[in-house]
Amino acid sequence: MELNLTGFPVAEAQNKKEESVKLLVLGSGPAGLSAGLYAARAELAPVILTGVEIGGQAGLTFTIENYPGFPEGVGGYELGELFQKQAEKFGARIEFETASAVDLSSRPFRVSAYGADYLADSLVIATGARSNHLEIPGEKELTGHGVSYCATCDGAFFKAKRVVVVGGGDSALEEGLFLTRYASSVTIVHRREALRAGVILQKRAYDNPKVNFVWNSVLTEVVGDKVVEGVKLKNVVSGEESILPTDGVFIFIGHTPNTDLFTGQLEMDERGYIKTDVLMQTSVPGVYAAGEAADPNFRQVVTSAGMGAAAAMQAIKYLEKEEVHT
Ligand code: NAP
Repeated sequence: MELNLTGFPVAEAQNKKEESVKLLVLGSGPAGLSAGLYAARAELAPVILTGVEIGGQAGLTFTIENYPGFPEGVGGYELGELFQKQAEKFGARIEFETASAVDLSSRPFRVSAYGADYLADSLVIATGARSNHLEIPGEKELTGHGVSYCATCDGAFFKAKRVVVVGGGDSALEEGLFLTRYASSVTIVHRREALRAGVILQKRAYDNPKVNFVWNSVLTEVVGDKVVEGVKLKNVVSGEESILPTDGVFIFIGHTPNTDLFTGQLEMDERGYIKTDVLMQTSVPGVYAAGEAADPNFRQVVTSAGMGAAAAMQAIKYLEKEEVHT
């Protein structure tokens, strides 16, 4: 395929419609939709490209208990829908599109998606993060056949079955506890003997009769012909190896930011998180980043939403100052 100087396919660039926008938001998790809300209320008519999944990772969470304003908790998908509704009410436009290329070398910034190329005076990057994989034999081959990264999505397939959960953080415990609704047993395999998860989740897990733990152990292989039949474990202290029969493996070992698109164009840390200053400004003026694409520390719905709002507020100021007109 022939590419022009910015890496955009020539034929694509010639045939696609171009649309000028004052503020383009990439991503539709809490950060992206909050940015859209603030930009819409400033009458910037922002366009939000949803990415693969509207609502982001939060949309896959069964219940969110720590987003203020919902004392009984709120469904992750339901909260995403509320965010979306509120942003749209004030004039944000949602496009079910994923950005495939960006050029931040000159303004307006060019963002290529399947249906259109967007020429944006300012940009809020809220592309979130994706689940890490163990990268062990059998994992890839049996994904969708017993290996999963989302209990809310796949838990119901494990009614009265045994599942293994990998990880010791909040996600592993929260999703593991969710799986007890269906599974006959949930075995949490953690590489140390102290959990990283918060105390409330720890207590709930210890108190749940369906949950048990295998400490100081890592998976070295997912075993099974067409479906998961077991996992190979290695005790990292004794070196002892064993096989644990199971019907499913749920892996929650952290995340990697979805920032590959911006490599070489924005400053990032060694893990790929986009570097911003306290005002959400990236290394390119007019480009802001919010949520898990830029946040290795907090990764909460409330902090991502706050970062998205802050990013949009700064973009609004930037546009006023630059007096950029589309
Ligand atoms: P996390 O906090 O980074 O925990 C990842 C876990 O996976 C850790 O226990 C880690 O072990 C383990 N791990 C990492 N790489 C591994 C490997 N290669 N093999 C085996 N184990 C491995 O990730 P998270 O649980 O997804 O949480 C991410 C963020 O979201 C956190 O800030 C968390 O507080 C937040 N969160 C909050 C809630 C809530 O508030 N209800 C729910 C979900 C997530 P070590 O402990 O040894 O490093």
